Amino acid sequence: MKIFNTLSRTKEEFIPLEEGKVKMYVCGPTVYNFIHIGNARPMIVFDTVRRYFEYKGYEVNFVSNFTDVDDKIIKKAIEEGVDADTISQRYIAECKKDMQGMNVKPATVHPQATQEICGMLDMIGDLIEKGHAYVAKDGTVYFRTGSFKEYGKLSHKNLEDLRSGFRELKVTGEEDKEDPTDFVLWKPKKEGEPYWESPWCQGRPGWHIECSVMSRKYLGESIDIHAGGEDLIFPHHENEIAQSEAANGKPFAAYWMHNAFLNIDNRKMSKSLGNFFTVREISEKYDLQVLRFFMLSAHYRSPLNFSADLMEASKNGLERIRTAVERLNDGLKTASAGSMTGAEKELAAEVKGFVGKYEAAMDDDFNTADAIAAVFELVKLGNSTSSGESSREYLTLVKETIERLCDVLGIITETKKEALDSEIEEMIAMRQQARKDKNFALADEIRGKLLSMGILLEDTREGVKWKRA
Ligand code: AMP
Ligand code: ZN
Repeated sequence: MKIFNTLSRTKEEFIPLEEGKVKMYVCGPTVYNFIHIGNARPMIVFDTVRRYFEYKGYEVNFVSNFTDVDDKIIKKAIEEGVDADTISQRYIAECKKDMQGMNVKPATVHPQATQEICGMLDMIGDLIEKGHAYVAKDGTVYFRTGSFKEYGKLSHKNLEDLRSGFRELKVTGEEDKEDPTDFVLWKPKKEGEPYWESPWCQGRPGWHIECSVMSRKYLGESIDIHAGGEDLIFPHHENEIAQSEAANGKPFAAYWMHNAFLNIDNRKMSKSLGNFFTVREISEKYDLQVLRFFMLSAHYRSPLNFSADLMEASKNGLERIRTAVERLNDGLKTASAGSMTGAEKELAAEVKGFVGKYEAAMDDDFNTADAIAAVFELVKLGNSTSSGESSREYLTLVKETIERLCDVLGIITETKKEALDSEIEEMIAMRQQARKDKNFALADEIRGKLLSMGILLEDTREGVKWKRA
């Protein structure tokens, strides 16, 4: 298997640190609102990477965090007159529903920054002791970039160039920095903000330290893969490397993977530009499987432009696969019980060939676009079978191969049966009961299940209302 490593800017053969195992960390979202479909790209892409490793027989330990302490969360909390925790817990729950709707598997662990402050204090203390960090007059702790010889190795930036760039960009309140490229590990609290006690000042962590700490805690000092969107290369991932390697004295991650942006009108989709669609909005128009199919129709390192046309094409593509599987299922009802005929044996060899093509594509830095092309070859083969004349053995082979290869992409091949109103009402009643019993996990699960069936719930004063997406 070959993976494009941002560190070396080349495709490298994947060699796990421990045989048969993959330790993988993906930077997760900052939870102050519903996630947008740009945030969904790394979720879908790296979930697919995980699924492919599992298909290949690896045991994957997959960690993805929620950043639940941040300026934007605090701002939103102030706007709503609630505490920051209320905001982050709400949007973590909403994010998990969207993930379920997109068929993104839950991570092995989803740590939250606010639950890991102790570990952060330990690592920051250790960095100070080792001379890699220092405390300014106001209690801010900075990482001393000059103390880490390899600073810049991921983003391929030179410390001197960075210095001159940063000098222009004077940040108020950071005048005590020894060097303009030094970055914050811990900062003093501001009025009305959440804070924690520390040996340096009452305050809160900088953004980068959480990932170094959580990655070490849940995966160990050295991991196989660290991933995220390409905007994280600098400064976030560069700073994570500096913190982790300075603290642990060991290489942090062997492979760094970054997805390209999801754009709209050829500009990055982002909250700050206001040019975004939330996953929830998309779910009102499309089955979220269409969104997943759309994301995987391009290679993860290629920019992808969101458009209604491409979504329609994805919808049609997905339908073609589902119709083929349905047809094969129907064929199986009347198929002859016998084993494959000579002609079918030849076609079975073709099936094997397409599986080979699929694996070759995925082995080549997870080329999902080519992998999907191989699935379509199988669909073509499936559609050319004639009902009543094919053997059960052959039809089963084609059907199960399509299903298995789609499952690795997280694509559900089963055609959704339109749920009956009575079934929906029954599930809503179960959810209401779960809420009454304060079993919010079950209530959320039912809501997520309904969402994946294309049913949207709205809690109103008059009770729960629902509509089909
Ligand atoms: P954030 O909540 O901004 O920290 O983003 C969470 C994840 O989504 C990070 O891995 C980002 O790189 C990624 N991301 C944000 N916007 C986009 C986009 N338009 N396209 C692809 N990835 C994105
Ligand atoms: Zn991170």
